[in-house]
Amino acid sequence: MQQPSRASRRTLLVGTVASVVGCVCALATRRPPAVGFAAAAPIPIERGATVGAPARRLGLVADAGRIMFPMGPSPRCDILDNFGDLRSGGRRHEGVDILATLGQEVYAVADGVLVNQADASASLSGNAWGLTAGDGTYFFYAHLSAFAAGLELGDTVSRGQVIGYVGDTGNPGPGNYHLHFEVHPGGQRAPAIDPLPLLVIPNSCSIT
Ligand SMILES: [Zn+2]
Repeated sequence: MQQPSRASRRTLLVGTVASVVGCVCALATRRPPAVGFAAAAPIPIERGATVGAPARRLGLVADAGRIMFPMGPSPRCDILDNFGDLRSGGRRHEGVDILATLGQEVYAVADGVLVNQADASASLSGNAWGLTAGDGTYFFYAHLSAFAAGLELGDTVSRGQVIGYVGDTGNPGPGNYHLHFEVHPGGQRAPAIDPLPLLVIPNSCSIT
């Protein structure tokens, strides 16, 4: 059988690459945009992190890895899968709780603006930040022991920046150190969604 010439082999190769790229593009464009995250680029998976297990367990994989983990995972990181749980007064738990130790770092999960701040006298949240990202998504962090030095309401923050430290202010009770974390894709006054399937979760964290 006649071998293809060098030129035609190149054509074949280019054609193959083009069709592979075409397939990837087609897949990428077929993927429906995530609610409230359409403008956000997927976040690269960090070393020692996973998004698959919790997302698969919860039956939601489309948006896995959209949100960086909001807290330094060491020395303790025990995530409670408790979004939507009933609370006193008929309230629903609008976030997830990440059990930790006093003073673990809390991060801005996106570039944005600190649009809301509560202090330790707030009976439910205690010290808390509200952060609105560039795409309008609102993130809420509660029960902080302290705010990062120098940060003020209205400041612009960058993804990964330390904005505070884990504590037990508000209603957790003394010594119940954890970060309460909420995600509202439509903005501060829009409903919260379960953050857990979206988070990039460090492998050292547990989920119960
Ligand atoms: Zn909570």
